[in-house]
Amino acid sequence: GAGRVFRHRPTFSKLVIVLAASGGGLVAYADGRTDDSKESSQVAPKKKVVVLGTGWAGTTFAKNVDTSLYDVQMISPRNYFAFTPLLPSVTCGTVEPRSIVEPIRKIIRKKNEEIKYWEAECFKIDPKSKTVYCRTDIGTNVEGHGEFPVTYDYLVIAVGARVNTFNTPGVAEHCHFLKEVEDAQKIRRSVIDCFERANLPDLDEEERRQTLHFVIVGGGPTGVEFAAELHDFITEDLAKLYPTIQDFVKITVIQHGEHILTSFDKRISSFAEEKFQRDGIELQTGFKVVKVSDKTLTIQNAMHEDSSIPYGMAVWSTGNGTHPVILDFMKQIGQEHRRVLATNEWLRVAECESVYAIGDCATIAQRKVMEDILEIFRFADKDNSGTLTVKEIQDVLGDICIRYPQVELYLKSKHMSDIVDLITASKGDIQKEGIELNIEEFKKALANVDSQVKSLPATAQIAAQQGNYLARCFNKMRDCEEEPEGPQRIKELGRHRFLPFRYKHFGQFAPLGGEQTAAQLPGDWISIGHSTQWLWYSIYASKQVSWRTRALVISDWTRRFIFGRDSSRI
Ligand code: FAD
Repeated sequence: GAGRVFRHRPTFSKLVIVLAASGGGLVAYADGRTDDSKESSQVAPKKKVVVLGTGWAGTTFAKNVDTSLYDVQMISPRNYFAFTPLLPSVTCGTVEPRSIVEPIRKIIRKKNEEIKYWEAECFKIDPKSKTVYCRTDIGTNVEGHGEFPVTYDYLVIAVGARVNTFNTPGVAEHCHFLKEVEDAQKIRRSVIDCFERANLPDLDEEERRQTLHFVIVGGGPTGVEFAAELHDFITEDLAKLYPTIQDFVKITVIQHGEHILTSFDKRISSFAEEKFQRDGIELQTGFKVVKVSDKTLTIQNAMHEDSSIPYGMAVWSTGNGTHPVILDFMKQIGQEHRRVLATNEWLRVAECESVYAIGDCATIAQRKVMEDILEIFRFADKDNSGTLTVKEIQDVLGDICIRYPQVELYLKSKHMSDIVDLITASKGDIQKEGIELNIEEFKKALANVDSQVKSLPATAQIAAQQGNYLARCFNKMRDCEEEPEGPQRIKELGRHRFLPFRYKHFGQFAPLGGEQTAAQLPGDWISIGHSTQWLWYSIYASKQVSWRTRALVISDWTRRFIFGRDSSRI
């Protein structure tokens, strides 16, 4: 009905007043707008928004977008939302797979207006014809294949990332990944397989040792959490069930850098390394895996010397790579030199009208960020002297941190440059006004920062905040149809219609096993230990997408406390 063009359906008395005119109508709306381009009897059809992906970013967008304004269609090969932070718990049966997933249809059914969902994978994006080409393996069309095109007015790309193997030979064939629920289920079966295989008669000691050698490649949050989970599973449950072979078990984490958990504060990274040492988890830092065969991993040190490690099961967790559909799209729009799809601060793909990208598949272009930072810097240098006082530098940094939390994260991390040390050291002691910093030097320091601050980390927190932000922008889009980013900065008024996306960091957790977790919370607050584990339990329970999954997850945790984990291979 005519009311569909309104966010709130108007009552009949407020309804559209039609001033008839021959050949074309002038439509006057109750809120004072007029539109002479439409036939009097016509109502502008709702714009079609196509969302690719049912992960953190896509689902949050769909949950928050106003479906009375848009015809929303979701496309994803996964017909459910998965609570990825609990995936490591699924690998060892601490939590069951179905406890962390929610059917997407249940989530989108909550809307008054329908959101359509197609279970398919997008394999090509054509921005010129505003069409995405999809493929499904669960059915065929009249032409006998499972491919179909979907047109859009606006496209929201939220396809996440895939595992990055860095083209290392043998990884795809022999290693497990930990990205999807299916991966976690496969790992769970494989761990039990290793124990059953090592327990078979007629195996020599060396074979049992190799079969029970679990190798994790990558010392980031996922790799470390999985190693901790596996250690708990083995010591708390499997050791009792396989007493004769428990002494052959070994867990090794291979990390390219010098330390594990480098995205966390140094204190957390050191605590985790010490805890792993106490638990007997071996850390091989400073090594790169260069080849994987069915029985051994070849690792290389900084001197390019190779050595080989026999293993029973290997999990590859070394960061994110880009989906082929995104690589192809980036080529079409001239972004082939980039690793991840770049957007502006309003999350729109710079080269493409009407295409937005959120979550792990996108990053806010950094060149613009650095230009902005220098702009703030030049603005602070009011007398054009080329130098700033400590007070001015503090102000500049304050401004930069508000606009770019990733810079703040960097400043707070352990890799502070000398210049930042100088500034922090003088914090609160404004008397030292005599210290001045040369703008050129500061630029050099920022260039260093830039290499560390390439992009925000790929987390669910960011993906969800971007989905929410973009939905709110779409809900206001009717006012800003021409310029989705809002009008140019209205300097005199000092405001944007849409503020650019700003990430709000609520902290991050690193579960380390043995009912101990480390947390890095806003305000540089570090907490490690058993009490933090309870904080982790409460936050993760509260963040579940539905009461059903919340109840299931809590009951899984309780079941594990009482009965331990299940080691059946089903
Ligand atoms: P995803 O959630 O990965 O969703 C991508 C969606 O796109 C999926 O539905 C997928 O099926 C779909 N898709 C893929 N290809 C196509 C295609 N061609 N066409 C259509 N649809 C497609 N973050 C945290 O903040 N805290 C944590 O504790 C944490 N723990 C993690 C633990 C693990 C094991 C993993 C793997 C990740 C963890 N993360 C964590 C990171 C977090 O999961 C990601 O940052 C987040 O999932 C990104 O959201 P997204 O929507 O961009 O992608």
